[in-house]
Amino acid sequence: MLGAPGAGKGTQAKKLIEEFGIPQISTGDILRANIAQGTPLGKEAKGFMDRGELVPDKVVLGLVEDRLKQPDCKKGFILDGFPRNTAQAQALDGMLAGIGMPLQLAVSVDVPFEDLMKRLTGRRTCRTCGQMYNVYFTPSKKEGVCDKDGGELFQRDDDKEETIKKRLQVYESQTAPLIDYYSGKGIVRKIAGTGSISDIYGKIKAELEKTK
Ligand code: AMP
Ligand code: ZN
Repeated sequence: MLGAPGAGKGTQAKKLIEEFGIPQISTGDILRANIAQGTPLGKEAKGFMDRGELVPDKVVLGLVEDRLKQPDCKKGFILDGFPRNTAQAQALDGMLAGIGMPLQLAVSVDVPFEDLMKRLTGRRTCRTCGQMYNVYFTPSKKEGVCDKDGGELFQRDDDKEETIKKRLQVYESQTAPLIDYYSGKGIVRKIAGTGSISDIYGKIKAELEKTK
């Protein structure tokens, strides 16, 4: 899944997991879990993340390499938030060649810049179940409380306005060039990331069906 922060990659990936039963590998989620558990890796990553910068490639590549070795990846996987730059993409090609599972599709979810800002500043996540809401577009019934389990909703540290600006700049300069990288391999499918979550999901599924 390619796309700017706030394009809805994570939301769509979670729907794909439910339907196809293959894991989502989100480097952002793995890094946040390491921070929450206070691991050395989490401590190393936190400063970069709070500033909206990329965590060094060496750290992220190690995480992905370990994750791809887990048995649940044998049937396939969805990469979300990885790769983030050309060096990571090249390293990924090497890893996937090693396990004989080349990337089949790079789905680019495109959302206009102005919309991304509202999506990111409005984003809230349930502490208990991870369900995501947006105070502008998909609010919970009761402010700050999860509809599913009554858990507390929180805002990610890096969803504050200054950090968001930096993350969008990093996306433009380092990650957006990957669309050309994968276009060169003939595997990019561009999807308009505006409209309802289920409309967008329908478009992604249509592309997957064509690839089967
Ligand atoms: P995300 O949840 O994908 O938006 O990621 C949140 C933050 O984690 C990013 O702003 C980066 O600091 C870091 N991060 C996540 N994935 C990567 C990656 N593949 N390479 C470098 N940094 C990453
Ligand atoms: Zn919840």
